Amino acid sequence: MLKWRLGFKFILIVVLILSVTLGLNMSLMLRNQQQLLEDELIERGRVLGHFISLISPEAILSFDFLRLNEYAREVTQQRDVVYGILVDPQGRAMTSYVNLEDALIRPLVPAEEQHPNLGVLLRQLDSRPELITMSFPVVHDGQPLAHLMVGLSRSALTAQSRQQLLYQSLIYATVILVLSTGIYLVFRWNVLFPVRRLMNASQEVSRGDFVQLDVRTKDELGALTETFNAMVRDIREERAKLHHQANYDVLTDLPNRMMATERLSYKISRARRDGEQLAVLFIDLDDFKVVNDTMGHAVGDELLIALGERFKSRLREVDTIARLGGDEFLVLLPEPGTEEEVKQVATRLTETVAEPVRLLGRDVSVQCSVGIAIFPDDGDNAETLMANADNAMYQAKALPRSSVCFYTPEMNRRVQERLQMEQDLNQALERGQFHLNFQPLVEARGGAHLGAEVLLRWKHPEKGFISPADFIPVAETTGQIIAIGDWVLERAAAFWSELQRSGIEPGFLAVNVSRVQFGNAISKRVAEVVADYRLPPGSLELELTESVLLDDVELVKSELRQLRMMGVKLALDDFGTGYSSLSYLKRFRFDQLKIDRSFVSGLPHDADSASLVNAIVAMAHGLDLQVVAEGVETVGQLEQIGRLGCDLAQGFLIARPMDGASYRSYLRQRDQRAAFSPREQDGNRRS
Ligand code: C2E
Ligand code: MG
Ligand code: MG
Repeated sequence: MLKWRLGFKFILIVVLILSVTLGLNMSLMLRNQQQLLEDELIERGRVLGHFISLISPEAILSFDFLRLNEYAREVTQQRDVVYGILVDPQGRAMTSYVNLEDALIRPLVPAEEQHPNLGVLLRQLDSRPELITMSFPVVHDGQPLAHLMVGLSRSALTAQSRQQLLYQSLIYATVILVLSTGIYLVFRWNVLFPVRRLMNASQEVSRGDFVQLDVRTKDELGALTETFNAMVRDIREERAKLHHQANYDVLTDLPNRMMATERLSYKISRARRDGEQLAVLFIDLDDFKVVNDTMGHAVGDELLIALGERFKSRLREVDTIARLGGDEFLVLLPEPGTEEEVKQVATRLTETVAEPVRLLGRDVSVQCSVGIAIFPDDGDNAETLMANADNAMYQAKALPRSSVCFYTPEMNRRVQERLQMEQDLNQALERGQFHLNFQPLVEARGGAHLGAEVLLRWKHPEKGFISPADFIPVAETTGQIIAIGDWVLERAAAFWSELQRSGIEPGFLAVNVSRVQFGNAISKRVAEVVADYRLPPGSLELELTESVLLDDVELVKSELRQLRMMGVKLALDDFGTGYSSLSYLKRFRFDQLKIDRSFVSGLPHDADSASLVNAIVAMAHGLDLQVVAEGVETVGQLEQIGRLGCDLAQGFLIARPMDGASYRSYLRQRDQRAAFSPREQDGNRRS
């Protein structure tokens, strides 16, 4: 449409210019020609008139009318002459001759009339534009004898001009046609074709086919083609760059999650067509965060790059290795063979990861967990297979390091349960399904009551009591722990001031806090609670696990400093189960260290447990920390921890966790006991 329009416009302009030019030219030429013919006609009339006026006097003087008639007829028979009349000085016609055959006369004179009335005829002819009248005096010796009137007709001249115009028009029309066609063809070849070629190429580029055109001329169109080629090259390079950025991981240059999903979908469709299997391996590094935290992110990045390289070199050409993000990798194994063979590949990959990498002059080694899902048994699309391999990887994480787990439908059930728990947790707070339990903490030697640990309880309307060990990790991953933790803190503070108002000395309350709460400015929240309930210094303790200390070191440090400034005590919970790193104890100031139940349970008979507790106590006391033994269940254990130097004890032997009302009566009874045996209490104080 557009091509036609441009051609049409162009040819219209060409035709117009040619027509105007040739038309003007023609009209000028015809006018000149007509003028020339008319001049010639007049000249002919004049010559004739002069000639007759010269020879007429003799005939007039001799009254030879026959001769005069002869002259008049002779004149009138000449081409284009309408009449010839000789008039005497009085105006009477001496002789006349009218050309009755002339086209001008014929309509005026009836066919049968041979001698028309001259006066009438001349008047009728007078206004006709075709008529040219001429008059010549006939003189003899200076005396006028008569004058000759000659009428000439332009009709023949006009007819000739018309014919000329027709021929000329035909010739010019042919010239215009030929010229326009020629010019159009030249235009079409030199302009329309290259433009159309560019248009077609642009369309192909927009379809993703980056064609290059050959430059055929050195004119503007050639330059335009060159510019087009350069533009296409730029677009192609830019596209390739964008494609790479969108599909490849910047750090390792391995395919990213998007590309991995795309390839997986493609390989699934091929495996389905060929009736083959396909293995999806989900690899997650264990404690990669520790590398980042202790050696810096640059070293962490180097490690990921090195592992990426290694993975690539240890896999087959047909396999795919991708980095999904963070410390997660995905491997696709087409035609994986038996389950045993897949396991061998996975184990080889865990060994590959475990090989030390030299970074900053140190050998760094990490481990990984691998989850495996197989097409078609464990899912028939990319999303399901990846999710199931991920589930299996989580199971592997729960096992000892460098474990490999195959997906089982059972895992999915656990995932479903977890999802359900997340939903139920959303409503637990609003529906008042949470309440607090309190478990007393006493002096290890002497048994004086010092405070209690606050333990959260969830009574699910259908499932009954759910252990915090089950729901706290879920609430931590979803972030629900922030609202729940706030509630625990608030309720514990409220309970403390209630106890005090009712005249009971509550001792301190130890509240467990999660690492997630640290990311949410816990010190601010604690400050509000301390102020709202006017908690005196020492009445509130926070229990943290070592995992908190793995997070943003500066943030945790400053939060802990602010908490201490408020007079809040800090305890390191479950010591011995995590990293138990002495550097943490040096870096962060604590008041108490709680030895995990697993060390106490072996006492008093297990010598290893005893020496471990002994060492921990020595170290803690060296750092000016009180030691709490958790999970004291027997008298033997209590005596042993006392002997080993633990300062506080907590466990079922002293009291099981109890609800608020029970704890209140527990405290009342304690106060009564103390009132009745002041000496015992004194003794306790002394010991
Ligand atoms: P934890 O802080 O180490 O709490 C001590 C756990 O040991 C409690 O389990 C307690 O009931 C149990 N325990 C105490 N004495 C004995 C004993 O003699 N024998 C045995 N076998 N167990 C004993 P619980 O209440 O199931 O809590 C489990 C964990 O859940 C807690 O361990 C704590 O880490 C977490 N948790 C509980 N409440 C909260 C909370 O409000 N916030 C946060 N973030 N975590 C909480
Ligand atoms: Mg605790
Ligand atoms: Mg504990």
